[in-house]
Amino acid sequence: MRELPPTAGLPLHFGDLRPGSAPFAAQAAAWLGVEHLQLECSGTAALVVALHAISRLRPDRREVVVPAWTCPLVALAIHRAGLKPRLCDLAPNHYDMDATQLAAVCSNKTLAIVPTHLAGRVADVATANTIAHNVGAYVIEDAAQAVGAQQDGRSVGLLGDAGFFSLAVGKGLTLYEGGLLLACDPALREAFAASHRAIIKSNPSMDKQRALELIGYTAAYRPWLLPLAYGRPLRKALAAGDPVSAVGDDFGPEIPLHTVSDWRQAVGARALLRLPAFLEATRQQALRRIQRLRQIPGLTVFADAPGQQGVWPFLLVTMPSEAIRDSALHTLWTAGLGVSRLFIHALPDYAYLRDVVPPTELPNARSFAARSLTITNSPWLRDDEFEKICRRLERAR
Ligand SMILES: *Cc1c(COP(=O)(O)O)cnc(C)c1O
Repeated sequence: MRELPPTAGLPLHFGDLRPGSAPFAAQAAAWLGVEHLQLECSGTAALVVALHAISRLRPDRREVVVPAWTCPLVALAIHRAGLKPRLCDLAPNHYDMDATQLAAVCSNKTLAIVPTHLAGRVADVATANTIAHNVGAYVIEDAAQAVGAQQDGRSVGLLGDAGFFSLAVGKGLTLYEGGLLLACDPALREAFAASHRAIIKSNPSMDKQRALELIGYTAAYRPWLLPLAYGRPLRKALAAGDPVSAVGDDFGPEIPLHTVSDWRQAVGARALLRLPAFLEATRQQALRRIQRLRQIPGLTVFADAPGQQGVWPFLLVTMPSEAIRDSALHTLWTAGLGVSRLFIHALPDYAYLRDVVPPTELPNARSFAARSLTITNSPWLRDDEFEKICRRLERAR
């Protein structure tokens, strides 16, 4: 029995877990070529801290514009910061926001726009900047899935006013949970630090819980143990007709806000040394594999435009219709080959977000949710297994 993870996470070594402490955020900043990174306990917490800070700077503005197809935690973070999500539909058959829609939903109520670098791809931050600066809003890049991605040789997160990365399980480098927050302007950086001091507390019992989770992840993240840790709960949720919990989209309203222990930072600092080579190897693998995917009629593969160098945790594709996508997933989702879906719904279609996001007409986001699937870019997916996936995609009707 073998089960592949849905994303290319950097495996931890037991040697990473020895005691110690290290300036993890400073080392990550040096690697990314950014001046400073603020460590938080999750990507969501990083966004809460950033929103808390800028809503003090612009108390008259309450709306945060996000793509309608994104991580539900983004909507929960906005709600937690006492603000309102305002949804922007996607461009047709694209993961990025539609520029015309974006201009239409922004106004003098807009506090921030959140362009989102999904699947390691680089989003159009320049358009968000132009629109934001016209209405006096900030741009916060959601780079949760894109640590290491670059535009014109510079890290994502530096194109707008601020940005954040996630260090959660499944997003590349992981501390089990963690986030990094970035701002270019020293005044904004100081506002983020002040927010951290105001709302983030140490929490020894969360430190203990996360330490155990990180050890468990280190032990279980290998193809012969993932049937237990990932495959079994996945099959159970799918059998129960619950795709939202199958992909781990089922978030509660509580957002943990606490500091990250010295030990977890030391673990991250050790793993960070292996990250550049891992990202390069997965990049080479992805560039080869998207060539093969492009031969499949009707499939759309998302890749880099000139000037962009994204990262490749998984390959994001869309199919011509929901029926064809579902026919492909029918056998592939539970085949142990790391084929899955990203977000199950457009944000208003999650039952638990009913009081958080407004009902909105979002044809493109709903269509994207219905027609997309993901293929792991884990180095554990062998070429013959990848070819098997491609054949099934070709046969889907
Ligand atoms: C995972 C994710 C987040 C939240 O990050 P966490 O570290 O899990 O809190 C935000 N945005 C996107 C697009 C994500 O994929």
